[in-house]
Amino acid sequence: MGHQIVSRFTEPAGPFPSGDVVQAWVQARRSGTPVADLAAEYEAPEATVLRATRPWGPFWRTGPRLPDGVVGVKGIAKLAGMSDPAAIRWVRTGRAPEPDFVLGDAHKLWLESTIRRWLDSCDLASCPDCGARCVSVNRHRAGAHKARRPGRPEQDSSSRPTSTS
Ligand SMILES: [Zn+2]
Repeated sequence: MGHQIVSRFTEPAGPFPSGDVVQAWVQARRSGTPVADLAAEYEAPEATVLRATRPWGPFWRTGPRLPDGVVGVKGIAKLAGMSDPAAIRWVRTGRAPEPDFVLGDAHKLWLESTIRRWLDSCDLASCPDCGARCVSVNRHRAGAHKARRPGRPEQDSSSRPTSTS
């Protein structure tokens, strides 16, 4: 979260956060940031953060706050080496396994072992460059490893393990 956003809230906005700030709060809460942390970061009352984000709730504690061995859709993305939107799509289309737990409001959770077993046994390809699991390596490469532009080193070099052997 950038300091620009912070100052946009604290400068002229008055008691009401701008739409951009509210969306930043919503995103942060969706990714598990506690309201107290947001309130401190934005120097806003906790009640303001709560009230402004409530229409986009409910917010579940996900990510690092899940118990060990339990993952949400982002955890699937991480385990499979793919993007969050791709994991969300796989869950929606039924490519990912059925969730082990469904909390209220269709919030789905999986045992990490369920996902690992699925990744071991499913017919997904593995990208030889980055290890991501994908339906089609060619399509994955076209999207994730775009053609190298002349005069520029390849993109994403930071996220690629050194795997030339
Ligand atoms: Zn790849």
